[in-house]
Amino acid sequence: LSERLGGVFDRLTKQGALSDEDVKTALREVRVALLEADVSLPVARDFVKKVQDQATGQSVTKSVTPGQQVVKIVHDALVDVLAGEGDPGALKIDNPPTPILMVGLQGSGKTTTTGKLAKRLTEREGKRVLMASLDVYRPAAMEQLAVLGTQIGVDTLPIVPGQKPVDIAKRAKQQATMGGYDVYMLDTAGRLHIDEVLMDEVEQVRNVVNPRETLLVVDGLTGQVAVEVAEEFDAKVGISGVVLTRMDGDGRGGAALSMRAVTGKPIKFVGLGEKMDALETFEPDRIAGRILGMGDIVALVEKAQETIEAEQAERMMRRFQKGQFNMNDLKMQLEQMMKMGGMEGIMGMMPGMGKMAKQVQEAGFDDKIITRQIALIQSMTKKERANPKLLQASRKKRIAKGAGQDVSELNKLLKMHRQMADMMKKMGKMGKGGMLKQAMK
Ligand code: GDP
Ligand code: MG
Repeated sequence: LSERLGGVFDRLTKQGALSDEDVKTALREVRVALLEADVSLPVARDFVKKVQDQATGQSVTKSVTPGQQVVKIVHDALVDVLAGEGDPGALKIDNPPTPILMVGLQGSGKTTTTGKLAKRLTEREGKRVLMASLDVYRPAAMEQLAVLGTQIGVDTLPIVPGQKPVDIAKRAKQQATMGGYDVYMLDTAGRLHIDEVLMDEVEQVRNVVNPRETLLVVDGLTGQVAVEVAEEFDAKVGISGVVLTRMDGDGRGGAALSMRAVTGKPIKFVGLGEKMDALETFEPDRIAGRILGMGDIVALVEKAQETIEAEQAERMMRRFQKGQFNMNDLKMQLEQMMKMGGMEGIMGMMPGMGKMAKQVQEAGFDDKIITRQIALIQSMTKKERANPKLLQASRKKRIAKGAGQDVSELNKLLKMHRQMADMMKKMGKMGKGGMLKQAMK
């Protein structure tokens, strides 16, 4: 696949900004890649459309081809869709005992995931967990959970033969309350396909325990089916999150994207094997790389972007060290400030600077002034910008007039420039580390 994409991308013309044609050509292949990763057709179609609007006209990073740039844009968009709000690995655990309901089709990995999660909650968060199997259908299903419990050192509800799932749920709640557990996890039965009886049963259990989290366990290899399963479970019992299992296999994980796009539910964990510690917090970046299958290209574009930024910083640093801080540099600094949300934005980002931001505003140094200062610099000629010493009275008048401002304002700007140039020179002498330290003070 990478080769095929590479071929398409080579044909794309090299140029500054991504053209309509560049984007369309690349996205045709991206769509195929998504479908091959088992992303459902409507989701792939929608996604490609969204990226198309987003990508056209974006600039291409130096030393990167348009095709590679599109891949990076697609990757970032994938991460965007995959990432839900909040921390994926965090479960709502508050009033003890907190009920967690595990649902899904048979064989999806519910029982295994129940054990893995219980282990994680016990070891990482110091919770006291009780597990209970509500699977009264599959032979030895309850024993399976009990064995896991022994293995990981987590308590399981004693098995009482002949009880109905709802009654087991009630008993689990009671036992968890009396036993002082923080969490009780209910591992439900599954069917090979969704059916009414299964759904009604899960619904009844839900009504009895009112779970804080209802986690849908889905086989990451199933692709399109996963979406239908997620939709039905969500409609009937309401799910709070998804666990994707078997992501240790060869599957490309397209189900993750489809489910996110269709249900909007967060993917919280990923199962990576049969062992009890093979559970990880969902990482959108990793799954995106897997779905697209073009991690190398993404890394390459990121590297190129970083290199350019580092080069720019390096170049400026060298100039400052030599005491060169001209009007172009000042303009760049001012523009950078505007990009970061103006004075207020910058101050807001620095801890303890909130008060200062207010003072700055009261002093009248707001974003409008920055804009006006930039206008003054723009009104200078190239030579004047490179060498502000040239600015004598007649030139000043011309510049101020060009920017529709007073000469006094230009004088203020020049004074500021001199002060900054001085400061830059001092900081430059201290070298990179020194400058940072100084700025932090
Ligand atoms: P349930 O029917 O939903 O309870 O599914 P089980 O928890 O019994 O799991 C069915 C099979 O899938 C078992 O053999 C598990 O060991 C296996 N399994 C579960 N999760 C994973 C996973 O993340 N990776 C792999 N490779 N196997 C898994
Ligand atoms: Mg099971």
